[in-house]
Amino acid sequence: MGTRGREIVGMDVEQLLKLLNEAYASEWLAYYQYWLGAKVIKGPMKDAVAAELNLHATEELNHAVLIANRIIQLGGTPVLTPEGWSRTSPCKYDAPADPYVAALLDQNIAGEQCAITTYKGLMDATKDKDMVTYNMALTILEQEVEHEEDLQSLREDLELMVQRGSK
Ligand code: FE
Ligand code: FE
Ligand code: MG
Repeated sequence: MGTRGREIVGMDVEQLLKLLNEAYASEWLAYYQYWLGAKVIKGPMKDAVAAELNLHATEELNHAVLIANRIIQLGGTPVLTPEGWSRTSPCKYDAPADPYVAALLDQNIAGEQCAITTYKGLMDATKDKDMVTYNMALTILEQEVEHEEDLQSLREDLELMVQRGSK
């Protein structure tokens, strides 16, 4: 823990750590949902979609790294167990039980929308209070916004392809 770094945080650090652990837990669930989705995927455009899911998986894992480092800097403990991920995350884990591309895309779009809400909340909570966390949340938010758009545009392409193919 950095003592001066913790002192300059202008909000309740325990409350901040709670928000950070919620985001941290969500990242692990998102990572696994993407990673496994890329393995089980079936249907049209599956190679293109799997490549994007794999890329997002690594980006989610990198978000977990950033947040774990910030939690530790502040003297907190990242969620210690996989059971803790589901208990702590504000975003639910959607098991890729249906491997069809469209089903996986829809699940992951919902996950990104929850992530966007989570980071917007973290930014609102830290604005003018903790610049370091605020800046990190902005960096992650930018990537979650990109993720949502990537998946929605794949979803659109898939829809067009299926429509044209059926004529
Ligand atoms: Fe993420
Ligand atoms: Fe994401
Ligand atoms: Mg992408």
